[in-house]
Amino acid sequence: MTSEEVQSLSPLYDTKKECIYCHKTFTTKKVRSKFIRISKRDSDFCNHYEGVNPYYYEVFVCTHCNFAFTEKFQPLKVANKAVIKERYIDNASITNLNGERGFAEAVKSFKLAILCATLAGESHYLLAGLCLKLAWLYRFEGNKVEENRFLKSALENYIKTYELENGTGYNKASLLYIIGEIEYRLGGYERAQKWFSILLSDKTLDPKIVNIAKDRWQEIRYERQQK
Ligand SMILES: [Zn+2]
Repeated sequence: MTSEEVQSLSPLYDTKKECIYCHKTFTTKKVRSKFIRISKRDSDFCNHYEGVNPYYYEVFVCTHCNFAFTEKFQPLKVANKAVIKERYIDNASITNLNGERGFAEAVKSFKLAILCATLAGESHYLLAGLCLKLAWLYRFEGNKVEENRFLKSALENYIKTYELENGTGYNKASLLYIIGEIEYRLGGYERAQKWFSILLSDKTLDPKIVNIAKDRWQEIRYERQQK
């Protein structure tokens, strides 16, 4: 076997990234697609994986300046770079999060990305997505308290997206669905009902998501009757 063939047996591979803050290049790990196996998907679109978890490697953490970001971050604006420097880079202790990651490293990388996204003035939609994935990491570990804490942060950011952002960069039907779904998960049945009814009564929305939402709402009502 050649060393290349041996390498390809490993689920992880090294890839080079350019930091969007300092523009230096660093090495980080990604999961080979043939090793990604979904065993189930939750009603809030959380995938459960067999073996290596690709969510663990979604955040890139620069080894030169510690800035943490994902593929979805926008290029940084000059004004935000100054804020990031003062409130993050100048005090950052370099963490090495770019080897194989366990749960603790994955959580740390998402927490850094949430902080960096906030300082970078990123959209509420992007922040919500980071909080939601962090909640999922805790779900995989069975830590309900931390899961709910970050579901709540995700919900707040999704609601702000709905109320404040102008509708670009996301699917409105998916947004309404995820808001309703998280409300329900956090025990807010009436609030969930409000969001699902906005979604189900809007004829202009993506019919594929509307159908998923119809099924999900029936399921929620059924679960509720069983209690
Ligand atoms: Zn950097």
